[in-house]
Amino acid sequence: MTSIYSYSLEDLTSKMISMGQSSYRSKQIFSWLYKKRVHSFEEMSDISKAFREELKENFSFDLPEMALKQESADGTIKCLFRLSDGEMVEGVLMHYEYGFSVCVSSQVGCNMACKFCASGLLKKKRGLTSAEMLGQVLFFDEMLRKRNPEEHVTHCVVMGTGEPFDNYDNVLSFIRILNSPFGLEIGARHITVSTCGVIPGILRFGKEGLQINLAISLHAPNNTLRDMLMPINHAYPLEKLIPAIIQYGKDSGGRRVTFEYILIKGVNDTMDCSRELARLIAPTFGYVNLIPYNPVIENGFERSDDSQVELFHNFLLQKHIKSTIRKEFGSDIDAACGQLRAKHEKNG
Ligand code: SAH
Repeated sequence: MTSIYSYSLEDLTSKMISMGQSSYRSKQIFSWLYKKRVHSFEEMSDISKAFREELKENFSFDLPEMALKQESADGTIKCLFRLSDGEMVEGVLMHYEYGFSVCVSSQVGCNMACKFCASGLLKKKRGLTSAEMLGQVLFFDEMLRKRNPEEHVTHCVVMGTGEPFDNYDNVLSFIRILNSPFGLEIGARHITVSTCGVIPGILRFGKEGLQINLAISLHAPNNTLRDMLMPINHAYPLEKLIPAIIQYGKDSGGRRVTFEYILIKGVNDTMDCSRELARLIAPTFGYVNLIPYNPVIENGFERSDDSQVELFHNFLLQKHIKSTIRKEFGSDIDAACGQLRAKHEKNG
C-alpha cells in the first residue's frame, strides 16, 4: 500500500477525483498532514467516518523510523532512518545563521562510484519513495518544533546518499510536497538538488518551471581528471555537460547553477586546475562552492592545505567567478555522505 506521504497535492487530487471525491479533499488531507500534523486518518475529524475507512484501505501512513541519532558539538544532528523493508538511510540537520537545513538521501546506496565518496561503498539497492525522503525532513522538523515552537526546517538540500536524477520522479514529488503552500511551505529558493551530472535529468529539470536551485558536482576541470574521480563522466563528459548546463539556464529563465568542487591535495587543487576551471565554467555564469575534502575512505586522497584552498579561491575571484568556501559541519560525527551508514553496516 502506498504511503499517503508519497503524494504531491496534484497527484492526491487526481487520486481523490478517481475515488469520486471533490478536488477539495486533497487540500483538506494535506492540511491535516502538514499543518496540523496528525498521524492517522481517525484524527481527520472533518472527513466522514465512511470515507476515512476508505482512505485507510487505500493508503498507509508509513514514514521512516529513526534508528540512530548522533549529535555534533556544533549542533549538527545526523540520523539513520530505518525504512519499511529494513534498509537504512541517513539524513542530517544543520544549523546555519539563516535557519535549519536538512540534507536528504535520495537512494539506498549509490551506483555513481565517485572515488572520494563513502556513499558509493554500498551499491544502489533502490530509489527512495517521496514519503521516505519527506520522512527525513518531517522527523527533524517535528523535533525542532517540539524543542522550540518558533523553530522549524527552513531549507533542504538533496545531497545525501544517492543520485537524485537517478530517481527523478520521486524526487520531484518530494520537492513538490516540500514547496507546496499546502505542504511544508519551504520556499523553492531554499531547496537545492545536487547531481553528479546526469544530463537527461538536468535538461528535464530546467523545464519544470520551478525556482529550485541546482548544484552540479564537478570536482574536476578536464575529462582526464574527471574520468578518474567520477566514472559518470564517461557517459556524460564535460563537452556535453557544459552545454547542457547552458541549456538548463535558458530553459529555466536564467537560473545559474552552483558547481561543487572538492579540493583534494595535489589532485585537483593546482593553479592549473583553477585556471582550467575558470575557463570551463565561465560560459555558464555559475557559482563555485569549494569544499575541503573530507578524508572518509582509504583511497590515499588528502585534504588540500588551507593556504592552497585560499589561492584556488582567490584565483577564481580574480577571474570574476563567484566562489565561496563551504563551511563544514559535524566532522566529529561522520556527517559526510554515506559515512554513518557505511560504518553501521560494517559493525553489523
Ligand atoms: N549524487 C549527488 C548528490 C550526493 S553527493 C551529487 O553527486 O551531487 C553530494 C556532494 O557530497 C558532492 O558533490 C560532494 O560535494 C559531497 N561529498 C561527497 N563525498 C565527500 C567527501 N569525502 N568530502 C567532501 N564532500 C563530499
